[in-house]
Amino acid sequence: MSLTSYFMEATYLIASILFVLALKGMSHPETARRGMFMAEGGMFMAIVGTLIGAHIITWGWILVGLTIGSIIGIWMALFVPMTSMPQRTALSHAFGALAAALVGVGEFIIHGAEMTVVTRGALGFEVMLGALTTTGSLIAAGKLHGTIPGKPVQFRGQNAINLVIFLVMTGSFVYFWMHPSVIAAFYTMLGVAFIFGVMLVIPIGSADMPVVMSLLNSYAGLAAAATGFVLGNNVLIIAGTLDGFSGFILSVLMCKAMNRSITNVLFGGFGSVIATASAESGGEMREISLDDAAMQLAFANRVIFVPGYGLATAQAQHAVRELGELLEARGVTVKYAIHPVAGRMPGHMNVLLAEANVPYSQLYEMEQINPEFPSTDVAVVIGANDVVNPDARDNPNSLIAGMPILEVDRAKSVIVLKRGQGRGFSGLENPLFFKPNTNMLYGDAKSTLSHLAQAVQHV
Ligand code: NAP
Repeated sequence: MSLTSYFMEATYLIASILFVLALKGMSHPETARRGMFMAEGGMFMAIVGTLIGAHIITWGWILVGLTIGSIIGIWMALFVPMTSMPQRTALSHAFGALAAALVGVGEFIIHGAEMTVVTRGALGFEVMLGALTTTGSLIAAGKLHGTIPGKPVQFRGQNAINLVIFLVMTGSFVYFWMHPSVIAAFYTMLGVAFIFGVMLVIPIGSADMPVVMSLLNSYAGLAAAATGFVLGNNVLIIAGTLDGFSGFILSVLMCKAMNRSITNVLFGGFGSVIATASAESGGEMREISLDDAAMQLAFANRVIFVPGYGLATAQAQHAVRELGELLEARGVTVKYAIHPVAGRMPGHMNVLLAEANVPYSQLYEMEQINPEFPSTDVAVVIGANDVVNPDARDNPNSLIAGMPILEVDRAKSVIVLKRGQGRGFSGLENPLFFKPNTNMLYGDAKSTLSHLAQAVQHV
């Protein structure tokens, strides 16, 4: 082995170790930032190793790609708002998967004829998974961004049609694998995989897109791992496998947090039906004035903030931290309750509150905080809805029955901050808003919290 090959292998080894440590770091909010730095370092090492070790024919296209990619990446990092992070991630998956598919097509054109059976199999997987993940992720990004209607698109015979498409795709794959000289089989597989990606995602409602994205992420990872086999690139195999399995585990964890199965998410058409809320929601919502709410908070012993998607849209994380600090200065015990699927992506609330420097010691997971609600004076729900919907616990006919919730309704008093009568992402009514111990404080979460902070200072 030449010196450059040794160097390349060494950088790949370091990159692989950094990727593993990055995943470990990202499993806890306190170490997540360090985990991200490790992932960046790993990716940097992998790029350096590839540029030094590979047989590079011309630098021209590499530099063009690096420049365009860096400009797009820096632009997205600086200007895409936190609330658009899920669709931005879906776009990244689409690009990653397209890259895997295109590398596969390139390898097929150059080396297709002389490939071994095993390499050809890996190439088929790479192109098939890459192509379906590309279009699937683009549809997911469109649904999350609202460019495509978020409602599930369902029609009679859909599952049968999808089965036929799936069989044509896998059939072409097997045919190409057995007869590599039949070029049409390879391109049929590629084209049908693009169509299958669309068909796979359109029947799923936008509420389930985070789970779908995480699944697509795992497909993109497996496509990358297959690319690694085709190119004989170890770091791609390791990184792709890590990505593939972590994506899958994340999907399973999200389903568990919503008490749903993966099959229900993929084929359930969640969001197409507006289920009936419990009988209790027939009552009236009571409004509270800003001054009364401030008074309740200022004279409370224990307050729990419950952030949800509305906090993210309003970018109210700094405002809630300021209000929390004011209350603490008055001797109030302040905690934050984090539901695993609050917001629109895993860890959404942790990321936002960390950005506002809310101490980790004040963040409590659902299982830890639920027993504390009955002894809490005021639970302040900030733009959360589904994750505090008591129907999930009390109404077995609810669409979200069995989904674990933050039991804010058990607090002595509940103040809900939201703009109006808007429903949660599931489209369900929330009986919490009609309970006798609940009061509504309408308005954009950020300005409401700022006004509350001012009012608390005057109490
Ligand atoms: P949610 O159920 O979507 O409710 C958000 C609420 O925020 C709405 O009722 C809305 O009411 C209010 N809101 C919106 N903008 C606001 C603003 N600027 N100021 C104040 N309020 C605002 O949110 P959630 O309770 O966080 O639940 C998350 C949902 O996403 C769950 O259904 C969950 O299953 C789903 N999901 C999440 C993930 C994940 O990884 N996090 C994954 C899969 C699915 P108004 O319009 O009246 O203001």
